Amino acid sequence: MSDKILSQKTALVTGSTSGIGLAIARGLAGQGANVVINGFGKPEDIERERAALESEFGVKALYSDADMSKPEAIAGMVATAEQTFGSVDVLVNNAGIQFVSPIEDFPLEKWDQIIAINLCSAFHTMRAAIPGMKARGWGRIINTASAHSLVASPFKSAYVSAKHGIAGLTKTAALELATHKITVNCISPGYVWTPLVEHQIPDTMKARNLTKDQVINDVLLAAQPTKEFVTVEQIAALAVFLCSDAASQITGANLPVDGGWTAQ
Ligand code: NAD
Repeated sequence: MSDKILSQKTALVTGSTSGIGLAIARGLAGQGANVVINGFGKPEDIERERAALESEFGVKALYSDADMSKPEAIAGMVATAEQTFGSVDVLVNNAGIQFVSPIEDFPLEKWDQIIAINLCSAFHTMRAAIPGMKARGWGRIINTASAHSLVASPFKSAYVSAKHGIAGLTKTAALELATHKITVNCISPGYVWTPLVEHQIPDTMKARNLTKDQVINDVLLAAQPTKEFVTVEQIAALAVFLCSDAASQITGANLPVDGGWTAQ
C-alpha cells in the first residue's frame, strides 16, 4: 500500500505556473495527488512544468488557463477538474498579484484587479468546490495569505486589504465546514524571492525613494528577524502537512512562515 497521503486524490492549485504555487503543486503531487495547475506564462514553460509533474511523480496533471478575476472561468475550471479526475479534494487558493503605490495615486483598475484575484477568486473557487467536498466527506482548503494578512505596509493598500480579507474568509469557511471533515487554513508567507516580489521592487524604490539594494535589505529582509528570505519549499512543506491526518484538528488558523516578521 502507498504511504503517500494524497493517493487517489486531486489537488487544484490556483496561480501555480511559478513561485509558491508551483512548489505547492509539486509538493502535493509528491504525495500522490493528481494536480490541476493554473496561471499564466509562456505556453512552453507551462507545458514543461505540467509534463514534469507527471513524469517525476507518476500522477496526472492538467493545466487550466482560467483567469482568477473571472467568476465564470473559475466555476468552469473546478467543473473541468471534477469531470477529469472525479473530485477536487484539496483546493489551494494561491493566485495573487501585487501593486505598490500611494493611495491617492492608486489606479482604480489595479485596486479592482487585486481584490478580484487575491480575494474574490478564493470565494468563487470555494463556492464551486465545497459541494463535492461535502458529498465525499473530506477536504482541505488552503489559502495563501501573507504576513500582510496580519500587519500592514505603506503603499500596498489593495494587497493588504485583500490579504486581511482572505484571513476572514478562511475563518468563516472553517466554521461552516468544521463538521464535514473539511479544514480551511491560511498560510501566511513572509518575503519569498519570486517574480511577484521582484516585480514590486521598482515601484517600491519610487514610492520610498530608495535604491534596489536598500529595498532588498532595508525593507524586505529588514522586516524578517531571521534576515533571510523564506523559500517556496518551506511553504509547500506546510501545505503538505495541512493535508495530513495529523493536521485534521487545525482549522481556521492563519499560520505565518515569515522569519518572525509578525511576532514583532
Ligand atoms: P508569482 O508571481 O510567482 O506567482 C503568482 C501566480 O499567480 C502565477 O502562477 C501567476 O500566473 C498567477 N496569476 C496571476 N494573475 C492570475 C490570474 N488573473 N489568474 C490566474 N492566475 C494568475 O508569485 P508568488 O510570490 O509565488 O505568489 C503566490 C502567492 O503567494 C500570492 O497569493 C502572493 O500574494 C502570496 N505571497 C507571496 C509572498 C512573496 O514574498 N513572494 C509573500 C506572501 C504571500
